[in-house]
Amino acid sequence: MTADQGAGPATAGAVLALIRSGSATTRAEVGRTTGLSRTAVSARLAALVEAGLVSEGDEAPSGGGRPPATLRFNRDAGVVVAAAVGGSRSQVAVCDLEGRVLAGDAEDQQPGLGPDDLMPGIVERCRNLLTESGWAPVAVRGVGISIPAVVDPEKGGSLDSPVLTGWDGVPLAPYFHELIQAPVFVDNDANVLAASESGELLSSYRDLLLVKASTGLGIGIVVGGNLVRGAWGAAGELGHVKSPAAEGRTCRCGEQGCLEAVAGGWALVQEMRRRGREIDHVRSLVALALAGDAEARALIRESGRRVGEALAFAVDLLNPEAVVLGGDMSAAYDTFVAGLREGLYAHAAPVATRRLQVLASTHGEQAGVIGCARLALEAILDPVQIDLALSAR
Ligand SMILES: [Zn+2]
Repeated sequence: MTADQGAGPATAGAVLALIRSGSATTRAEVGRTTGLSRTAVSARLAALVEAGLVSEGDEAPSGGGRPPATLRFNRDAGVVVAAAVGGSRSQVAVCDLEGRVLAGDAEDQQPGLGPDDLMPGIVERCRNLLTESGWAPVAVRGVGISIPAVVDPEKGGSLDSPVLTGWDGVPLAPYFHELIQAPVFVDNDANVLAASESGELLSSYRDLLLVKASTGLGIGIVVGGNLVRGAWGAAGELGHVKSPAAEGRTCRCGEQGCLEAVAGGWALVQEMRRRGREIDHVRSLVALALAGDAEARALIRESGRRVGEALAFAVDLLNPEAVVLGGDMSAAYDTFVAGLREGLYAHAAPVATRRLQVLASTHGEQAGVIGCARLALEAILDPVQIDLALSAR
């Protein structure tokens, strides 16, 4: 944004965005990029330094003369709390303002817990992680939560979830209020995986599909660098697309013939148990596959193939540059992706798959919490929010 483009003079929030992205690292660069006068640059920086968001220090001299002071975004000017809540496992983390995990944990839980049963424990874990990482609750600038659900942005909770029982219509922010006063942001689990790639794969690919293959199945859709949630937040509900292979099978959403009923982690676990193999979680199935278990490998590959078939239509429709795999099943990446390529290439148009990249998600196991943190950061460090916060000081 520059002043002479008619967008109005760059605000402190806009200057912070330049510094965060690394597009301006000195006062002179801020001036050049924004078209602001030296006085105006000084005023914006003074407000940002005062708020602790920017620090200005000397670069080690490399030659003659005094080098210009370097402007840095202060990633330690507070923290964000992230909670990736799943149907049978939840991960919690405290992250710095660049979304890097400072302290985190992961706990399995009994499936079917309602929000009143699960959320207080999650808040307690946040409290412990804050203590462990040496931050007071008052330093928390935002909370990011993901749930396996179509999310109601108004209420900040589940609008509809086939996985979480008793969560629909329940706002999640109030559970945190006793500990944290900062704003709480709730999003879908596949969407936060896509958000975890901002600054990573999203720097190279502007159009991608992030497949979450876990207990359930979903896609985070990124078009032109923007996350697509759809009119009611239901975009990318891959698990409940009807699949001919699932005909006659009942899904956990109550419908018949959903893709999840043959390819979701929960269905694979059921299948193993039907065959007399005592496993209780998709992660156990993945561990077996990695240890060379032929039955586990075959089931994961078959799941990949069914997901690839269903994904073909999305690839034809959106023509992404990359399909990125995340979720528990991505730990058996080679096996799952061998099946996924098979199903995808057999069903999608060659023009859409010829140059398509299939990749693993950057942050693996931590992608969920990193994505939650990034979504919260995107919201609280948005230039408009920064300007509001600075003017309220
Ligand atoms: Zn279903």
